[in-house]
Amino acid sequence: MFNIAIDGPAGAGKSSIAKAVSKELGIIYVDTGALYRAVGLNALRKNIDTKDVTLVTESLKDVSVDLRFVDGEQRVFLGEEDVSVDIRLPEASMAASNVSAIPSVRQFLFDLQRKIANENNCLMDGRDIGTVVLPNAQLKVFLTASPEARAKRRYDELIAKGQDVEYKDVLDDLNKRDYQDTHREIAPLKPADDSVIVDTTEMSFNEVKEKLISLAKERMN
Ligand code: C5P
Repeated sequence: MFNIAIDGPAGAGKSSIAKAVSKELGIIYVDTGALYRAVGLNALRKNIDTKDVTLVTESLKDVSVDLRFVDGEQRVFLGEEDVSVDIRLPEASMAASNVSAIPSVRQFLFDLQRKIANENNCLMDGRDIGTVVLPNAQLKVFLTASPEARAKRRYDELIAKGQDVEYKDVLDDLNKRDYQDTHREIAPLKPADDSVIVDTTEMSFNEVKEKLISLAKERMN
């Protein structure tokens, strides 16, 4: 199978770039952040402290998280419920970052991610895809940008969706999540040794897209 791993901090443009690149290459796009968000959402709904290792671990026992692909679009399921919309709420972002530092949660989601990549030509994005989940991916990209550029993009996205947010809160939230994601003990966010680092601060969407497509095509041959 042909696997592409894209990692990077929140708001680097991973998902929009990944969607465009996978579509052009005719492979599926797997957004692994959605899995951590689903586990986080499940804990929030049960009124569990999302940093409580014991309670969060317990919450995994009676839940299933699954990805289904409908017309090439990824949908995320908690049991039989499609939670693809609810997992995008801002509180689900921090909950995801909190639960993602818990080893039992990473283990719980690891097999599912590996299985999808073993069975499909895919582009998978997240924080530890090149380093842990798919160490043998044919192409690994670390997509990054300055915190301010990332916060501005995320802010514009949320405003366009009609959400009432302040730029400063979005920036604070990104900085806090970056700190947690890069400093956790297990699978911290960092570029794999053999990844191509792409800083998108000064690049247009199309420039980034074309760069990734050309890198992928080189590796496919
Ligand atoms: O990518 P997204 O912002 O949706 O991810 C939400 C959170 O899930 C991240 O802040 C990170 O803590 C966690 N995550 C992770 N490993 C991944 C994907 C996401 O720890 N592969």
